[in-house]
Amino acid sequence: MVEKHKHCVVCGMPISPDKTPPVCSKKCEFILSRRARRERIVWMLLPLPFVVLLILFLIFGGAAP
Ligand SMILES: [Zn+2]
Repeated sequence: MVEKHKHCVVCGMPISPDKTPPVCSKKCEFILSRRARRERIVWMLLPLPFVVLLILFLIFGGAAP
C-alpha cells in the first residue's frame, strides 16, 4: 500500500507530496539548507587532494623511474 505523502527529509514527519523543499517546517528548511551548504563545501574540497597530488606529480614526476 502506497500512501500519498512524503516524509520530511530532516525529521521524517509526514508532509504533502508537492511540498518544495521536502521539509515540514521553517526550522527543518533551515537545517536542510545548512546541511546542503556543508555538503557543497565538502564536494568542492573533495578533489583537492587529487589536484595537489597531480601538481606534485607534474613537478616531481620527472624523478620517478
Ligand atoms: Zn521536519
